[in-house]
Amino acid sequence: MAVGIILKSWGRFSCLWRALAAASLVALAAPSMAQTRPPSTQAAQSPSVPVADGVELANAGDSTRLTFDLTARVDPQAYVLTDPDRVIVDLPEVDFQIDPARGQPAAARLPGRRTASGAQPLAGAVASYRFGLVAAGKSRVVIDLAGPVRILRVACEPGPDGRGARLVIELGRSDRASFLAEAARAGRERAAPAAQPLSSPISPRDASISPETSLPVVVLDPGHGGIDTGALGASGALEKDIVLEFAKALAARLEAGKQVRVVLTRDSDVFIALGERVRRARAAGAALFISIHADTLTDDRSVSGATVYTASDKASDAEAARVAEKENQADATGGLDGRDDQSDVTDILFDLTRRETRAYSNVFARTLVGYWKDIGSLNKNPHRFAGFRVLKAHDVPSVLLEVGYLSSDSDLAELTAPDWREKATAVVARAVEGFFRARGSENPARTATGADPFGGLAPVMAPSAPH
Ligand SMILES: [Zn+2]
Repeated sequence: MAVGIILKSWGRFSCLWRALAAASLVALAAPSMAQTRPPSTQAAQSPSVPVADGVELANAGDSTRLTFDLTARVDPQAYVLTDPDRVIVDLPEVDFQIDPARGQPAAARLPGRRTASGAQPLAGAVASYRFGLVAAGKSRVVIDLAGPVRILRVACEPGPDGRGARLVIELGRSDRASFLAEAARAGRERAAPAAQPLSSPISPRDASISPETSLPVVVLDPGHGGIDTGALGASGALEKDIVLEFAKALAARLEAGKQVRVVLTRDSDVFIALGERVRRARAAGAALFISIHADTLTDDRSVSGATVYTASDKASDAEAARVAEKENQADATGGLDGRDDQSDVTDILFDLTRRETRAYSNVFARTLVGYWKDIGSLNKNPHRFAGFRVLKAHDVPSVLLEVGYLSSDSDLAELTAPDWREKATAVVARAVEGFFRARGSENPARTATGADPFGGLAPVMAPSAPH
C-alpha cells in the first residue's frame, strides 16, 4: 500500500504542473548565466528596483553602524531573532550589486570560504551579514550577532549630496535578558497578522489533480538562492549560481531524453525555504527529487569529488553530519524564524512509507554513484547518509548531490566549465533514466491503472550497472 502511495505520484499531472513545467522551459530557453557574479539580473528586468552599490560597517562610540548606499529610498522593517541570534531588516526588492564576501569575516574570504564559526566579529557585535532577495519583490539584510544588541535606529536617509539614499542600521550594546525580551515581543508582533508563507505558489498535494497518464516527474532542486549564496569559492564563484546552472543543464538533458518530466524548485536567483522545496516536490507529484549542491572545506583544499547523500536519522560519519548541519542552516541564513518552517503533517502510513522511500532513495544513490564514475571524480565513500531537512519528504525518493568542492582548485575549474557541466549532466541524466527504466517506467500506462509500475521489482534490487 505504501508503495502505491509513492507510485501514485508518477501519474499525477495538473494545470499547476504544466505551469511549473512551462516556467522551467522558459528558464531553459534563457541565455546562460555568466560564470562571474551577475551584477544586476533584477535591475535589468525592473528599472524601478533600487540598486545598492556600496556598504560600510563601522563602530561609532558605543554603537555599530551598517550603511548601504542606494539609488532610491526604501522603507525598512527591522526586528531581532534568536536561535541563532540575528537582526533582520526587511526591505522591498533591492538589487544588491555588492560582493557577498564583504559581509563575511576575513577567515571566510580565503579560497573555499564560508562563514567560519568562531571567527572574529566584523565590528562590535556584528559577526557577519548578508543581503539579497528572499521572495519575489522582497529583499532582506540579515546580521549575525556575536552578542546581544539593541536596535537603536533603522532608517533611510537622503544620500550624500542629496543623491540617492542611505539605509542606516545602528545597533547598540544590550544584555541577554533584554535581547530575549525584545525577540519575544517582535515575535508576538509578527505573529499577530495572519502569517504569510514566504513563497508558496503551489499547494501541497491536491486531491483534485487529475491522474493523467504521464512520464515520471523528476524535481531538480538547485540549493540556496537569493540572500543565501551557499558556499563561496575563490574568484567570486557562488554555490547558488553553480548549482542553478547545473540544474538547468540537467533539466534540458532530461527533457530532451523524453523519458521523464522535469520541474525545478527554482529557476532564478531567489531564496526558497527548505520546507518549501519539499512541498514543491510533493505538489508536483515527484517520483524522484534531486537536490544539487557544491561543498567547501576551509581547512583542507585537497579534498575533491562528488558525493551523493540520502536521508537517515543517524549520520553515516562525521563528515556527512557536518554537511547536513551546514545545508540545514539555509533557513536561518535566509533570516527565517524556526517557526516559519511549516513541516508537513504525517499520516498513519508515514513510517512504513518513509522506510520504503528511503530504500528507493538508496537505490538511486547507488545508481548515480555508479554512473558518475564515468566522469571520474568521486569523494571517497561517495554515498553517505545524514539528516538533511530538504530530503525529508516521506513519500518521494530523494537524494542530495554535492557535485564537488569549491575549495578544491581542480573541482572549481570543472564546476565552472561548460564542457564539464555537459558531461556531468549527461551522466546524471543517464542515471535517472536508468533508475526509472529498471523499475518499468517505460510503460507509464500502468501507472494510470494503479498497477505496480515498478514491475514488481523490490526496492533493494540493484540497478543495472553502467558499462
Ligand atoms: Zn549547499
